[in-house]
Amino acid sequence: MYRRSWIDIDLNTIRENYRICRSRIDPSMDIMAVVKADAYGHGDTEVSRALRSCGVRHFAVSNLEEAVRVRSAVPDGQILVLGYTPAELAGEIYENRICQAVYSPEYALELCARTDRRIMAHFAVDTGMNRIGFDADDPEKCAEEIRRLSARFDTQGIFTHLCCADTDDGADFTAGQVGKFRKTVGRLADLKIPYVHCMNSAGSLRHAPYGNLARLGIVLYGLKPDMSNVLPDGVKSAMRWQSVVAMVKKVHKGESIGYGCSYTARSEMTVATVPTGYADGYSRRLSNTGRVFVRGHEAPIVGRVCMDQMMIDVTGADGVQLGDRVVLLDENYNADDMAAEIGTIGYEVICDIGKRVPRIYRGCPL
Ligand SMILES: *Cc1c(COP(=O)(O)O)cnc(C)c1O
Repeated sequence: MYRRSWIDIDLNTIRENYRICRSRIDPSMDIMAVVKADAYGHGDTEVSRALRSCGVRHFAVSNLEEAVRVRSAVPDGQILVLGYTPAELAGEIYENRICQAVYSPEYALELCARTDRRIMAHFAVDTGMNRIGFDADDPEKCAEEIRRLSARFDTQGIFTHLCCADTDDGADFTAGQVGKFRKTVGRLADLKIPYVHCMNSAGSLRHAPYGNLARLGIVLYGLKPDMSNVLPDGVKSAMRWQSVVAMVKKVHKGESIGYGCSYTARSEMTVATVPTGYADGYSRRLSNTGRVFVRGHEAPIVGRVCMDQMMIDVTGADGVQLGDRVVLLDENYNADDMAAEIGTIGYEVICDIGKRVPRIYRGCPL
């Protein structure tokens, strides 16, 4: 591997984040690791294996391709597809022993029409997010619809998704969601559905537990559901994104830097070029706003982030030279910090990091 722009992923940090969460969540609850979107950019095969090796049995993904990959990584895991899978693939769902979210009568019937097998299903209940799920505004009707359809599946679970659990303002809404879910589940008690789940990271960290499974995503990767949250002690980002200095030069007072001449030097400065750009998933919105770290020194981005390169101000840093490492993200300046600079969330920052940035693993499981 040659070093242009790369990410070190510490699997031991992800395992430690898991252990810390595990110790804070009610022991009666199982944990489902959410490894969708290639484990939030960390690599689903490696992360699933690492977590399987410390006792995690449940995994959630967003689609069947991800599910099939995680199936090869953890042959004995339980894998849930949280969203839509084309009904034509019902046979593949069954063959790969995948659990599928079933979220409407129409979708349930389409799946059933495509296979004679009883697919493993987790029924999704909509308690207010209005994304997917059987509408629980009327818990009685919701429960009856699920009851009627559940016989056509190997019903493994029932779940809902909390959409405001990450802020104090959302506390009442969250309580309302859990209340509707509880009522719906209560009406189906006789079905003895094995898994009842509604807690995401924010729900698990900030709200009273309900159900017997918690779906943890972002916190396993060491980031916050919302900027305002406080993570448990010891939870930290597992990702360190680095690049190198490709060139160092002087830029004179009055000269401009980069596309659109968006930056003008106010005095003589030392500028370094770094071979990472928006094609690597380094957001162009960080132009003239973001920062990186060289020799422990904070270096502001000057000018626009290009497709494959960017320029940084290293005027204050001593002796910066060709080949020096440049830290774009690490545990001290993580994706949440970067997200705050450009008005997004850490989730988006890590999911956007491109496939051309190789991931290098430390702390690999056997
Ligand atoms: C993504 C997702 C999660 C995990 O959310 P985090 O905030 O990352 O913990 C849980 N449940 C569902 C349905 C999801 O889509």
